[in-house]
Amino acid sequence: MSSSRPLPVIDNGEFERHHLDVPHPNAQFISNPERDDSHRSPVAGRFARTAQLVWKLVTLPRSIQSARAGAVQSPRVLTHTLTFGCNAKCVMCDSWKLPTKGDLALAEIAMIYQDLPPMDVVRLTGGEPFVRKDFSEIYGLALSKLRPLFMHVSSNGFLTDRIVDFCCQRDRRVPLELAISIDGIAEYHNEIRGNSRAFDLAWSTLNALNDRRKELNLSLVVNQTIVNNAGLDQYELMHDRLEQLGIEHHVVIAYKESATYSLERERRLDIQTEYNSVDDLDEEKLFDLLRKAEARAHGLPFHRRWMRIYYLRGARERLRGNKKTNNPPCQALHTHLRLFPNGDVPVCQFNSQSVGNLNRQSFDEVWKSVAAAEQRKWVRRCDGCWAECEVAPTAVYTLDLLSARS
Ligand code: SF4
Ligand code: SF4
Repeated sequence: MSSSRPLPVIDNGEFERHHLDVPHPNAQFISNPERDDSHRSPVAGRFARTAQLVWKLVTLPRSIQSARAGAVQSPRVLTHTLTFGCNAKCVMCDSWKLPTKGDLALAEIAMIYQDLPPMDVVRLTGGEPFVRKDFSEIYGLALSKLRPLFMHVSSNGFLTDRIVDFCCQRDRRVPLELAISIDGIAEYHNEIRGNSRAFDLAWSTLNALNDRRKELNLSLVVNQTIVNNAGLDQYELMHDRLEQLGIEHHVVIAYKESATYSLERERRLDIQTEYNSVDDLDEEKLFDLLRKAEARAHGLPFHRRWMRIYYLRGARERLRGNKKTNNPPCQALHTHLRLFPNGDVPVCQFNSQSVGNLNRQSFDEVWKSVAAAEQRKWVRRCDGCWAECEVAPTAVYTLDLLSARS
């Protein structure tokens, strides 16, 4: 990594003030080039992890205070799109059409992670993240260099052997949530995913892991993306099947356009006019589904229940045209950092304009750049979308999530 193409850096005191107000969890490790604890003895490693957990908890209240004020601070959640490459050809997504040539090499990812502050949560996604043969190594780097408390990986579940091997061989000390996308039963799912074996492959992956969840320190969830009316009819079928396996069933409503997976790169949607959920869904059926999903979410453990209920209620309100409910300061480019396959740092799911490139610039340069400051102004003006991957960090760090308690 070099600074061959530095962006101008803001130095108006605003970033510094908040940066200092909210010291990053385990700040001592940030300035320590030996933050990676893989060389430590088990006892020293355990001590370092405990110290970090305590530090994260101690700094959380101030971090929340800043998030609620919409202030700039160090990120605490990383969503890393490892590649846009994908072995599916979904009808609602252009990711599989995007080039993979500029994807970062493992050594480049190691350099970038080394330069990032530690994170509470790291989410590895794609494209299909498991098409990268070095996925396990990238995951290991995320653990050792970013020291998350929790890992999340999303996958279409096609590469059963690779996924199962990874789950068994990974460092299990940090819990992993593996989200497999299945939009309906058999042929329906195959059509949506553009692969005649899509359902069988994803289901084999679930079956291979299901009985070993505890041993593997693994949570399994299935994300059902609702793309059309036939997808609404698949909801109960999916629910019955997954209930038998005891696997959590999430529904997410597909949105019409996404800047992240669009063929048009560096795109910023006008959230007022261009952010639309799928518009040909039968409203009555959709509201009925959301009601049922919310009722079922009440049976989940509390830390998962609130997030599900929060998302489902917000989705319902937005479908009703009410954007005022649950609209705390969005955490895109604040506590939530996104990283694209080539090292670019985009704003969010609906704004892929890059504020810098971590393969060419240091994290500090990018995070404090004029481009980042300009985009944060856009974030503050934004009307508010309802993509689950964006909603979650905002709900948690602003504590707006607590509104889902009742
Ligand atoms: S939705 Fe997911 S699985 Fe489907 S093409 Fe896009 S990245 Fe691949
Ligand atoms: S609410 Fe946040 S994540 Fe959603 S479009 Fe606006 S800035 Fe992006």
